[in-house]
Amino acid sequence: MPGEPSITFHGAAGGVTGSCFLVEHGGGSFLVDCGMFQGSKTVRELNWRPFPFDPSSIGTMLLTHAHIDHSGLIPKLVKAGFTGRVHCTRATADLLAYMLPDSGFIQEQDVRRLNFRNRLRGRGEVEPIYTREDAEASLDRLHGVDYGKWIEVQPGARARFWDAGHLLGSASIEVELTEAGRTTRILFSGDLGPEKKPFHDGPDGPEKMDWVVVESTYGGRQRPDVDDATRQAMLAEEVRKALALGGNLVIPAFAVERTQELLYDLDRLFDSGALPVTEVYLDSPLAVRITGVFEKYLPHVNQPGTPPPFRRGNLHLVESTEGSKRLNRLAGGAIIMAASGMCDAGRIRHHLKQNLWRRNATVLFVGYQAPGTLGRILQEGAKTVRIHGEEVQVHARIRTLDAYSGHADQTALLNWTRERMPVSRGIILTHGEESQRIALRDRLAEAGIDGTRILTPALDERIVLTGSGEPPVEMVAERLPGGHLPERDWHNSYAETVLALSQRLQTAPDDPTRADLLRRVRAALGLETA
Ligand SMILES: [Zn+2]
Repeated sequence: MPGEPSITFHGAAGGVTGSCFLVEHGGGSFLVDCGMFQGSKTVRELNWRPFPFDPSSIGTMLLTHAHIDHSGLIPKLVKAGFTGRVHCTRATADLLAYMLPDSGFIQEQDVRRLNFRNRLRGRGEVEPIYTREDAEASLDRLHGVDYGKWIEVQPGARARFWDAGHLLGSASIEVELTEAGRTTRILFSGDLGPEKKPFHDGPDGPEKMDWVVVESTYGGRQRPDVDDATRQAMLAEEVRKALALGGNLVIPAFAVERTQELLYDLDRLFDSGALPVTEVYLDSPLAVRITGVFEKYLPHVNQPGTPPPFRRGNLHLVESTEGSKRLNRLAGGAIIMAASGMCDAGRIRHHLKQNLWRRNATVLFVGYQAPGTLGRILQEGAKTVRIHGEEVQVHARIRTLDAYSGHADQTALLNWTRERMPVSRGIILTHGEESQRIALRDRLAEAGIDGTRILTPALDERIVLTGSGEPPVEMVAERLPGGHLPERDWHNSYAETVLALSQRLQTAPDDPTRADLLRRVRAALGLETA
């Protein structure tokens, strides 16, 4: 219907990553988030494709928080002609000042490696999605706002940021659209934090909305309520067991917040004597700088009479490449933290290469691992993995400590949604693997919410925010079949098949067995038997 506002879900619909919602209304159009797609190759390829809208026609943008799956395509958006402001909290802007250039650097490096392989295969070269320079140029667009204060977004649209308790600076964004005397109130949850978390209180938000767009990352999961003391005790146990083996403890950690939470907990454990003072290497220039932003916004983490958690004598902040390479000589007894948290980029891959084959090493996952990432593949028990084109045997202990979470679990999501009631028109579920999203939908329906008012848009689907009746839903740009972000694709399956074949050949008892295996594979491929 002309004149009705609409939201088109150009990311974090039918999957978790690539958050990007396009709001169109009588006064113009704006984006809520513009994130990078992560996970399987099919999903990541969307980052290279043109936006399914004209960036130069978008007036402005509201950004919920600094995580790359919400902010990571801002430089690409600016490069493609977006000239508006990006409204975000001041802490988000400070975090992005380091995170976006780092992301640009990662794009450049990935493409350099890819082009090297492409040259060997006689294929053409590709350009990075954006460079560090592009990212630095896009920082001018960021415009810091305060929680709780209305801002004018564009004619007929205003917005207010609420603390989402998910990450330093994270927000849920309340939007009011007014057209021809009718006001439509929409709340975008952004990512929601749990009710208990270091550094933050539980998420906050307004009530009496028309539409609520809510994330469903853990829509089907219950997590135990873990307080500070319990979480620290669990971490201490993992660290003690890892160090007792004599090897290194390698912790893939997101540079933002998870790293600082770990440093904070380790600091408490060292100070209390629960852990012997152990050398900790934070090998991530990004995490080192981000830690500085945390110090600025969270001065209260410092305890009187003990060293500040982020400036301890046994904490080594490693920024230079040479310093990072020197860590390769550490055969054991150290805690090495590095990014990226899902092991799909960054220095952690070097440390995994150095430690995965060691039987006395431990890799401890402390964060969510998206399907298809190296982190998830290790968690699922792979015996061999490929890192930088090389095959690496996995002998290290692979552990997961499920005590840290940036996300509300099912109960917290239900509570948060209930606190927004009454919601007059609809609840739109986004940002979750399909099983999680369906689980949340079912629980909301059980809790008495009319099931026809709970919507689960696919990627690139538009929902028209009508004042009454069933809202029209249409697919506007089907970039992936059915608007579904596949968690696994043939690339995952190919990599697993090649590894399995190589492993079978290695472990076969004798050459005739190997020859027989190859004969069967060749027959399946229709090749002549050698
Ligand atoms: Zn997030």
